Parts: sequence; structure tokens; C-alpha cells
Amino acid sequence: MNCPKCQSTFQTTLMRNAVMVDVCTGCEGVWLAQGEINFFIKDTKKLNKYYNNGINQAMSCIDKCPTCDGTFLRKGALPEFSFEIEECPKCFGIFLDKKEIETLNNSRDVNKFTPDKRVQHTN
Ligand SMILES: [Zn+2]
Ligand SMILES: [Zn+2]
Repeated sequence: MNCPKCQSTFQTTLMRNAVMVDVCTGCEGVWLAQGEINFFIKDTKKLNKYYNNGINQAMSCIDKCPTCDGTFLRKGALPEFSFEIEECPKCFGIFLDKKEIETLNNSRDVNKFTPDKRVQHTN
């Protein structure tokens, strides 16, 4: 599985909130499989709007889903939040680039996307 932005490989990484996510070894973007966003948003009820109606102002973009061959991601904002995400319309995985991760980490609504440094990661 390769990063939609920089084509580097992802490394499964344990985050501080004990959730394993795929982090790009090149650009430090994060790939969340369907539903994994729930582990990072503190008030998960706020995500209902997203699960019911999808992202706000969905726009096509040129990045392709790392798991669905050839499917283009679409870009938009999470309803109830101002976070921009890229989402696959097929598998509903979410890609967050480094800048978007920083925005999320500065929000009180989010459990920080911080790798757990106590763990040695190996491929
Ligand atoms: Zn990358
Ligand atoms: Zn997909």
C-alpha cells in the first residue's frame, strides 16, 4: 500500500491512544481505514452527520486511494468540524496530510495523532 501523495510506503504505527494507524514513511500523512476516525474524535456523536451525509462540499481530487485500485479520492470538510479530509468514495478510508494532522492536533475535539514513542516500530 502506497501513499496517495508521495507514493512512499505506509508503516503501521501505534498511536498514544492505543490505536494502530498507517503513517506514511515519506510525508507523514495518515491513512485511516473506514471508521478509524472514531478513535480520534472525542465526541463521536458529532460524526453522525458525516456518516449520514458525507463530507461537506465534496470535490474530486487527483490522489488515488491506496487500497482501491485506481479510485480517486475526494476532498471535503468533516461536517460539524472545519477539518479537511480526503476520502475514498468506495472504501471510505480517509487520508490526512501532515498539515491536516497539525490542524487536528490543535483542536480540542481530537485525541492527538501522536505516535507512541515507547514502542519500537519494525516493518
Ligand atoms: Zn506520503
Ligand atoms: Zn478506497
